[in-house]
Amino acid sequence: MRTPLTIAAVYAHPDDGEFFAAGALTKWVKQGHKVHAICATRGDLGTRDRGASGEALGRARDAELARAMETIGGEPPILLGLPDGFVRESAAALKERLVYFFRKLKVDRVLTFDPWKPYEIHPDHIEVGRMASEAACFSCFPLLYPEHLAQGLDAVQPSEVWFMGPTVHRPNRVVDIAATFDTKVRSVLCHSSQIEMLAAWFVPGADPSSLTAEQHAQLAGGAKTFLEGMARGVAMLAPPTELAEAFFAQRVGPGHFENYQEMFMEMAGAPPSPPEVC
Ligand SMILES: [Zn+2]
Repeated sequence: MRTPLTIAAVYAHPDDGEFFAAGALTKWVKQGHKVHAICATRGDLGTRDRGASGEALGRARDAELARAMETIGGEPPILLGLPDGFVRESAAALKERLVYFFRKLKVDRVLTFDPWKPYEIHPDHIEVGRMASEAACFSCFPLLYPEHLAQGLDAVQPSEVWFMGPTVHRPNRVVDIAATFDTKVRSVLCHSSQIEMLAAWFVPGADPSSLTAEQHAQLAGGAKTFLEGMARGVAMLAPPTELAEAFFAQRVGPGHFENYQEMFMEMAGAPPSPPEVC
């Protein structure tokens, strides 16, 4: 694999990556890799406020993702502007855009949702995981969207797709995020429109639409404790790691995934290998 890598994190909504992958994304930036976020929608349904304007919320969430990417040291986000909640109905358009940007950026590694995760209810998460996987496996075929090649792009093949935890498959990569955990917390807090919806978890009785400075501080502290608990739990997959994020990485071939050996060993009942700590 060539280095530095170009990594594309593909999300449905602006805050999708921060909880599960911001520690790894920050680490990759520090290692010299280029990290992009491609976000299918503006997340303009993401409120429980009946008086909210979708347009204003979309603008606010675009800005939140831009701040989060700046915080982790990534590139300015690529916003596809598909309708929030209805990505399934736009699957073909999403696939074309993802193939286009994988070719344009010459993406080596794709990070996204596991579309086969049981009990995933959000249709946008399922569709984004599916189309990002398809785009990774099929962007190498020059007769697929030949107009991209006519525009001067080359057919490319990313090497891997990393599904963010929780995944249906046992994680095979554990990223030690001890050195990047604080940045992860700061990047999560950039998504204030969404964090405020969680106010009741951390500041019982608070009104999310009018938090005081003290309640904001309580909320930030509660979010950090929550993220730390999650990272410590994941780290138990790979001791002596203390704070971690977990992924299931699939190698990519032309038109398929290539983890055949791992899959056949599993089918034969062989005990799983421990995850690779990176
Ligand atoms: Zn989401």
